[in-house]
Amino acid sequence: MSEIIRATSYPLDREKIDFFSCVQFFAVHLACLLVLWAGISKAAVMVCLALYVVRMFAITAGFHRLFAHRTYRTGRVFQFLLAFLGTAAYQKGPLWWSAHHRHHHIHVDTVRDVHSPLAHGFWRSHVGWFLYHDSQTTDQALVANLLKYRDLRFLDRYYSLPPAILALSMFLLGLWLERYVPGAGTSGFQMLVWGFFVSTVLLYHGTFTVNSLAHIFGRRRYATKDGSRNNLFVALITLGEGWHNNHHYYPSSERQGFYWWEIDVSHYVLTVLSWFGIVWDLQRPPVRVYLNQMPDYEAD
Ligand SMILES: [Zn+2]
Ligand SMILES: [Zn+2]
Repeated sequence: MSEIIRATSYPLDREKIDFFSCVQFFAVHLACLLVLWAGISKAAVMVCLALYVVRMFAITAGFHRLFAHRTYRTGRVFQFLLAFLGTAAYQKGPLWWSAHHRHHHIHVDTVRDVHSPLAHGFWRSHVGWFLYHDSQTTDQALVANLLKYRDLRFLDRYYSLPPAILALSMFLLGLWLERYVPGAGTSGFQMLVWGFFVSTVLLYHGTFTVNSLAHIFGRRRYATKDGSRNNLFVALITLGEGWHNNHHYYPSSERQGFYWWEIDVSHYVLTVLSWFGIVWDLQRPPVRVYLNQMPDYEAD
């Protein structure tokens, strides 16, 4: 614990901040204040939550479990859908995301790991790394197997396009509801603020807890060399990514909750999709993974 307290005292390095990324990131945050003028409605909050869940699924099941780790297979159409919706989360493109994530697994919790809370402190692991100069480029050697997909390269290059399309769609949806479903009590402006800005900010911080909280708080089932933890709260808000100690121990598994009581919504959805042949070859943890847990885990 003392190591963690010491680490969280590291300051963010202002000289390393990338100006353009900062403007984008803080503009989306500031735009949430527009709720003071846009007001609130049931329809707007429901759309906000729905877009959080759909895009979180695209990040966890798409960017993470499919692109970064190849833990299951799917066709080009569903792959594109996941890539588009994940990019609409405004966390840059699938190649950038996967390259940085693979880098995290290779250098986990060392000084070379750009978002390790143990090596660099909490805030840098949560948001600082995302805004740093050094984090803006993509190491293509780390995603060589993904470069053959033209659509992924396109989305990665024009990563602002899907969020812009989503924001415009929200505005038009609100206008449509205002005109044809007056009982919904919403407007184009209100739907833009809740459906895009508020939802995207929640999504940023929900996703980033995997990098920050899931390397600090929670229980360790496996004696990995990193500080990864299993954390129920993170698992709930990220649709299953909180079983992070499981994941670092055996990253090739599609499911990250290794037991039925470890809630992993992305795994449930992927399982249902596999019944319809939309995804297949879901990789499961082998028996040795179940045998290798630390003996004191259950009593912890
Ligand atoms: Zn990690
Ligand atoms: Zn991973």
